[in-house]
Amino acid sequence: MVDAIMPALFIGHGNPMNAIEDNEFSRLWKEAARQIPKPKAILCISAHWETQGTQVTAMEAPRTIHDFYGFPRPLFEKQYPTPGSPELATKIVELVGESKVLPDHSWGLDHGTWSVLCRMYPEALVPVVQLSLDRTQEAAGHYSLGQQLRQLRQEGVLIIGSGNIVHNLRMVVWEDTAYDWAVEYDAKVARWILQHDHDPIIHYEKQGRAAMLSVNSAEHYLPLLYVLGVGGMDEPISFFADKLWGGSLSMRCVRIG
Ligand code: ZN
Repeated sequence: MVDAIMPALFIGHGNPMNAIEDNEFSRLWKEAARQIPKPKAILCISAHWETQGTQVTAMEAPRTIHDFYGFPRPLFEKQYPTPGSPELATKIVELVGESKVLPDHSWGLDHGTWSVLCRMYPEALVPVVQLSLDRTQEAAGHYSLGQQLRQLRQEGVLIIGSGNIVHNLRMVVWEDTAYDWAVEYDAKVARWILQHDHDPIIHYEKQGRAAMLSVNSAEHYLPLLYVLGVGGMDEPISFFADKLWGGSLSMRCVRIG
């Protein structure tokens, strides 16, 4: 029997406190998980693991990495002891090519991954693998790598990109507001996603001032390109969050399939 194709998700993760605060975002993530079949494994592309060359976590028991500063103690004490999946890591290396992805034994799960998954799958039983962002690649390279991972969805793997479509920490204000340029670029990307028009999303640097302010360092934007890459052009698309927060953060979440 052929398994149903798993949806693919992009999660706007925002503030790490979403891991332990019961709020509108944590509730939406939990509900999104409830609405999809239970995955056999999860592959997460997080904004918070940038490398030279692509790497994939290949350990049996990935550690919970607290890669942030200045947050309350309970956030540093939070653990997400979900298993890894050396098998899935090996499959990804084989799928993409040994010269293009290297197995990693030292990273683990950074907060781009665990702050979201601890709300979606709090029981911490589903094996999780992370793929790094190779910052020597152009945006188109990330999209094309996503396309190569598409078949994993047919094998019960939930692929999640975790970042923020609009993310500019230099301009963040810790209140419930949004800059005009943030609203503008978030809406443009949403429209392109719905139209399956990926080219302007990939070539964000050609999209003017709003795009430049929204994608100022790109690491939170690139995970979206993987999710678009693993999606088919005829698949349904929905947004299960679409709020802007902190002036310069889009919490928009996308489901494909
Ligand atoms: Zn982040």
